[in-house]
This record gives sequence, structure tokens and C-alpha cells, in this order.
Amino acid sequence: MEQTSSSNSKKDKNKPIDYNDLKQLKSKYYESELEKEGLNSLAESLKTKIRTLQQQIFSQESSIQLVRELESQKVTLLEQAENYKKRVNDSDLQLSIIKKELTSLREENNDFTRKYNELQQQNVQIRQLNNLLELDKQHLNKKLRESEDEKIVLQKELGQCNEQSNLIEDNIHEIKSSFEKLDADYRVLQCKNSELELEIENLQCEVKRLREKCVLQYHEIDESNKLNGKLKGDIEDLQRLFIEQDRVLREKNQQENGIHPAYCNVCNKYIVGVRYKCGHCDDYDICSNCETSNHDRNHVLIKIKRPINNDRFVKTALLPEFQLIEQNEQDIDHRTNCSVCHKKIRGVRYKCGHCAKFELCVNCEAYPFNLHDPTHVFIKIRRPVQIDSNEILLPSEFRSIVNRSSNI
Ligand SMILES: [Zn+2]
Ligand SMILES: [Zn+2]
Ligand SMILES: [Zn+2]
Ligand SMILES: [Zn+2]
Repeated sequence: MEQTSSSNSKKDKNKPIDYNDLKQLKSKYYESELEKEGLNSLAESLKTKIRTLQQQIFSQESSIQLVRELESQKVTLLEQAENYKKRVNDSDLQLSIIKKELTSLREENNDFTRKYNELQQQNVQIRQLNNLLELDKQHLNKKLRESEDEKIVLQKELGQCNEQSNLIEDNIHEIKSSFEKLDADYRVLQCKNSELELEIENLQCEVKRLREKCVLQYHEIDESNKLNGKLKGDIEDLQRLFIEQDRVLREKNQQENGIHPAYCNVCNKYIVGVRYKCGHCDDYDICSNCETSNHDRNHVLIKIKRPINNDRFVKTALLPEFQLIEQNEQDIDHRTNCSVCHKKIRGVRYKCGHCAKFELCVNCEAYPFNLHDPTHVFIKIRRPVQIDSNEILLPSEFRSIVNRSSNI
């Protein structure tokens, strides 16, 4: 343009030359040709621009369609969003419910934790108790062991005791056998005793024979006295001495052998053992064998177990008359009690002749040992008579002789 303006100015100044003008026109053509080409290329570029714009439009249309689709999608998405909102609300509701449940569960959990703590405390207490129990158990185990030891000791002692009891049983057997032996010995001794009794009887016969001999000798002495008057005094002294010795010997013999200075009025033998003297007859004696003989049943007998050392009483009735009490003879009651067993005296009554209030029943009188003074003599009362228990019936000199050997 600036060229054109400069050429225009040159034309204006060089008007007279037409060549210049042509040249200028030619350049101007060329210039317009160039401009034309520029414009063509511009048109071309514009065309391409249009095309691109068209394409852009097309693409924009498609994008508009896309926008529409997107809008429709947006609507659907909004609907979906509403749906989601609803769901969110629902889920909120559910969430609140769940929260409530959660709070309740928390409370429950708290309760459970509290309970758990309590249980733990209980557990601790139980453990403590368990420890105490364990201690007790140990203590008891110790005691059990001790008692087992004691049990063993006691078992040993029991064994010893059993051995001792076996020994004792053996001893009992030995004692039994020795007792049986003693029993046999006792029987043998009883046999010997009866033999000795027979011997005593024989000896009594011999004594009698000797006495008879003595009487004969007395006669001989009398004859020799008649013949030997001078020696009479001496012989009389010797006689007295002999008689005294004989009496002493006889008494000694009587004491030793239980021979009474009396003959039985039934069997006419010297009385050995028990002598019964009638309390009412002047001189009536019965031996134990003849005691059941028929003497006057109303007479009361004096039972003399051991010989009386006084001949003064031989020929004298010692008891007064008693008044009989009438009773049934099968069941006699003497209306007094035994001084030993304190039972009522029935059947036969024994009254001590020297003591007041000392009575014996049949059973107590029969004991082989002394229940009373062995020198005292008893009165045997079979039929009930009127006798005061306080009354002393026998003279005090009328007593049995007791030497040591017979005082059993
Ligand atoms: Zn007789
Ligand atoms: Zn008589
Ligand atoms: Zn007496
Ligand atoms: Zn009695």
C-alpha cells in the first residue's frame, strides 16, 4: 500500500511519460495478482475454516445431543439420587434404630462387665477359699498320715494283745487240767479219809480191848494188893498216877480223833463225829447214824459237833420243858429269822445255846466252815416250841474243845 501510494505520487509528478504509467500498471497488476492469490489462499483457508467450523458445528450438534442425553441421564440420575436419598433416609432410620440397639447393647455390655467384675471378685474369693481349702487339705493329709502311723502302731499292739490272749488261753487250759488233777486228788483223798475212818473205828475197838485189859490188870493189882498189903499204899499212888495218865491220854485221844466221852444209846458204840444229847433225858446220847431213831419226838436234842471237855454234864438233863406250838408238820415256821442269811427259818431251827439272838437255818448250819464261835453248842429244834430267842439255854462250861487242827 505504501508502494501504491508512492507510485501514485510518482505518476502525479511523471504524467507526461505514459511508459512509466504502464509499468506502474503492470506492477499494479502483479500486485493485484498477488493479492488475488493471497485472497484465494485466504478463501481457501476460510473454506477450511468453514469446514472446520462446520465440523465444529456438527460436533457441537453431537455434543448438544450428548447434552440432551446427559440431561436425560441427569434426570434419571436425579431420580436415582432421590431414590438414594430415600435409601439414605431409610438407612438413617435404620442407623438410629441400630444406634438405639447399640446403646441398649452398651448398657447390656455395661451390665455384663459389672457382672463380670462381680464374678471376678467372686472368683478371687473362690480362689482364696480354694487356697484355704488346699491348706486344710494339706493339714488333713498330714493328720491322715499321722493316724495311719498310729493305726500301724495299734495294729502291732493288737497283734501283741492277741498273742497275750493266746498265752492266757493256754494258761486257762493248763489251769483247767491242773484243776481236774486236783479234783482227782481230792477224790483220792476222800477215799483215803474213809479208809482212815475205818482205821479209827478199828483203833476204837483196840482202845476198848485195852480198857478191858486194864480192868483185868486192876483186878490183878487188887489181888496183888491183897497179897502185898505192905506195898498197897505205893500201888495206890501208882494206880492214881496211872488213872490220871489214862484220863489225860484218853482226852488227848478224844480231842485228836473227835471221839466223844459217850456211847450211843441205840447202837452202843463210842460216838465219833456228831453227838446228839437229849436235852430232857438224864443220860441219853445218839450218834449221827442213829439220829433218825425213834426217841421221844417232843424232846429237843443238843447237837455237839466237837467233844465236850467236861464229864460233869454227861448224866444231867440240861434243858427245861418247852411248850409245843401246834403247826402243820409239812410246813413248819419257827417265826424267827436266820442270823446269817436273814431268811425265815423253816423246817429245822438251830439256836446257839450260849448266845442270845443267834439262830441258824438248815442251810447255813450245814456250811463246812465256822460261821460262829466253834466252842458254842447249838440246840436242834425240829418241832416248833416256845423258846425266847434272847434266852441263854446252856451252862457256859458246856463248850466244845477246839484244838488248832480242828479249828477250820
Ligand atoms: Zn448210834
Ligand atoms: Zn430224851
Ligand atoms: Zn453262840
Ligand atoms: Zn440261814
